[in-house]
Amino acid sequence: MDLIEQHQIQDKIVFYTKDVHPWENDAHLLSLSKEDYSRFEIDFLSRKILKKYKNYNTLLPPIIQTTCMATSNGKSELVDVNGNLFTCNEFPYIERLLEYSVGNIFEGKTKQETYGLETWYEKIEQNYNNKCLSCNLLPICGGHCPKHWIDKKHLACPSIKFNIEDKVKLQYLTNGGTN
Ligand code: SF4
Repeated sequence: MDLIEQHQIQDKIVFYTKDVHPWENDAHLLSLSKEDYSRFEIDFLSRKILKKYKNYNTLLPPIIQTTCMATSNGKSELVDVNGNLFTCNEFPYIERLLEYSVGNIFEGKTKQETYGLETWYEKIEQNYNNKCLSCNLLPICGGHCPKHWIDKKHLACPSIKFNIEDKVKLQYLTNGGTN
């Protein structure tokens, strides 16, 4: 950030950070905990605001209607470098998940069943994940990762779960204390 500010290009690039989540591995053990990342993020966002970086106006996310391609009911698909089709971007290149490919671009779509993600909306009606369904952030988070609901391991809670109060304050200050 020192270099970016030294060259005064804050308004020319979009620069953001993300917490590391255990997507089929233990990568999160090499990085900040969710709580520590959430504290870091507030410092980072404060500096972005003070130094007039581009794209800091999404402090408080809007209400969402769906989560990601996994719950798009086939409207979105991912193609890996081998031409395999997936309905979730966590599946490619993970050996245990390759069988959940729904086809290949050379053969066309051959399967409907995708790890149980195809019945995602029924699962919500059946109270499949009480933690998310009783969470007051569900309208803006959507449960974040449907695959993790099914895995019943780590919930992929976004950082706002841990720093929403500070983000509300930052949003207030960013607006000049007017709302
Ligand atoms: S993933 Fe976490 S923050 Fe999102 S709805 Fe579920 S419990 Fe709430």
